[in-house]
Amino acid sequence: MSEEKIFKVAPSGLDYALKCKRCLWLSHKGIKLDAFFPPIFNAFDLIQKKFLITQSVKLMSKDLPDGRIMTELNGFIGSSTLNDKKGRSFVISGKTDVVVEFKTSPKKYGIIDLKTTNINPSKIENYKLQLESYATIFQNPNSKTPKFSNIEELGLYLFEPKEISKISDGACNMKFETLYLKGNRCHDDLIKRVTDIIDIYLMDRPPEYNLACSSCKFVNSLKKEKYI
Ligand code: SF4
Repeated sequence: MSEEKIFKVAPSGLDYALKCKRCLWLSHKGIKLDAFFPPIFNAFDLIQKKFLITQSVKLMSKDLPDGRIMTELNGFIGSSTLNDKKGRSFVISGKTDVVVEFKTSPKKYGIIDLKTTNINPSKIENYKLQLESYATIFQNPNSKTPKFSNIEELGLYLFEPKEISKISDGACNMKFETLYLKGNRCHDDLIKRVTDIIDIYLMDRPPEYNLACSSCKFVNSLKKEKYI
């Protein structure tokens, strides 16, 4: 008897997963474009987090309740087995930036993602499934992840580089503008998105090329000219 397949989903890929269905299908087959993610963004995250853990969470937003950033949660988190809208099994696993334990009774928690990007209030829409998936993991954790039922807050904390105020002795002071954006729970949207993703994974044939994409355009030109 064949075992039930459990699909794996990464929070960071959820919001943009349907941008190209063909690439999504290919990635499930193990064929991925080697997209370059500049390591400097990880360095920014680490520097921002290192500073924030020494501060009041109200520095990010005066509207946040008092609380502390949970420095004990530094590793990967994962969900127990969940089901999509068609009853297929999946797990979500990933890494959070900032988890806050608020000083409330009963205890409530917040999940905040740090992004170095241009500041725009619409960014919260672009990352809402990523934030919801972290909340879903903590509410339905695997055996290695703590359970937090009361996720009170989802948010994005944006940093945009603006100007250099000083350079001396090989050091540079750069000013960043910041903005805190409050998110909302959207569990149904998350499950619907995972259902759409698994539908694509299970297609027999890859979805069509998107010739608006420069990478596919490149491959098609090579094929047309019979260079490959
Ligand atoms: S169009 Fe082609 S290269 Fe571009 S994202 Fe889709 S499958 Fe990948």
